[in-house]
Amino acid sequence: MSNSENWIDLRSDTVTHPSDAMRAAMAAAPVGDDVYADDPTVNRLQDYAADLFGFEAGLFAPSGTQTNLIALMTHCGRGDEYMVGQEAHTYKYEGGGAAVLGSIQPQPIANQPDGSIALADIEGYIKPADDHFARTRLLALENTIGGRVLGQDYMRAATSLAHAKGLAAHLDGARVCNAAVKLGVSLRDATAGFDSVSVCLSKGLGAPVGSVLLGSKDFIERSRRWRKMLGGGMRQAGIIAAAGIYALEHNVQRLAEDHDNAAQLSAGLGEIEGLKVTTPQTNIFYVGMPAAACEPLRAHLERQQIRASIGPHTRLVTHLDISREDVQRTIGAFKSFFKDFKV
Ligand SMILES: *Cc1c(COP(=O)(O)O)cnc(C)c1O
Repeated sequence: MSNSENWIDLRSDTVTHPSDAMRAAMAAAPVGDDVYADDPTVNRLQDYAADLFGFEAGLFAPSGTQTNLIALMTHCGRGDEYMVGQEAHTYKYEGGGAAVLGSIQPQPIANQPDGSIALADIEGYIKPADDHFARTRLLALENTIGGRVLGQDYMRAATSLAHAKGLAAHLDGARVCNAAVKLGVSLRDATAGFDSVSVCLSKGLGAPVGSVLLGSKDFIERSRRWRKMLGGGMRQAGIIAAAGIYALEHNVQRLAEDHDNAAQLSAGLGEIEGLKVTTPQTNIFYVGMPAAACEPLRAHLERQQIRASIGPHTRLVTHLDISREDVQRTIGAFKSFFKDFKV
């Protein structure tokens, strides 16, 4: 295998490797058996995350897909419905888990260009109490969504509307730390108004694995049962929870560097004729390019040890393991390719 240290990997912020300091924290972590709820490091992570985000309790799980599914199954029962954006991860990128495993019907709603769901649409899609209809129970939002940040005013209005209509509100906050850093608000303010939040530790925060679900004490107690049923009950999980604590302690504010790097990269690629480059709000942006360029560009980048999910709508993602120098090298590689490529 090629030495992965020399590769620039822009496919996702999930590709980061744990740092030496994070690995040292993992090696030193005291452990117990988390299915008995007596792993001290898992308990510390759950309590720390709950406090940091302003919730009563937390639950550590292997993935964000699982914390989202656990949340949906705790809020909704068989024959209930959740309202969700067409582009949302919980609807589009989780294998239909809510429907398949939870017997929960999604009500997908078009996302607006800014990633939000229009308040009028939320109100309009709530079904009246009638035997014909699934029971609308939950509004699920996502922040960031496709790298876009939902504003504080919108989040407040949407969660207030949900509550006024008797619905609960869940936030898929896989990258909510990116949103908070971009908005310049605390993690508590970024998640205020939601009944539950799922936070990924293994994206921009740089942990190798894991997500936390946050909510009220009662909600988290009920969600533990679903985690066990879904196979998410882990034993000496303190080994990986320690990475999560390290990530929350050290890697939140530095997300601003990833946002800066995305801005630099987007500006550099934007100088290339024939590319349609979006302006990043956080660490993710998109590059539109001619279909004919994709395969040769991918090969060109591979030769320079740059890995990216190249397609007509390429998504590029900056993270902990992408430096300013990597950004310059990537811009150079794109420029050298498009200098010779004729559409
Ligand atoms: C990555 C991600 C998740 C969870 O993904 P896992 O790979 O299962 O941890 C959930 N929502 C969003 C928006 C994500 O980007």
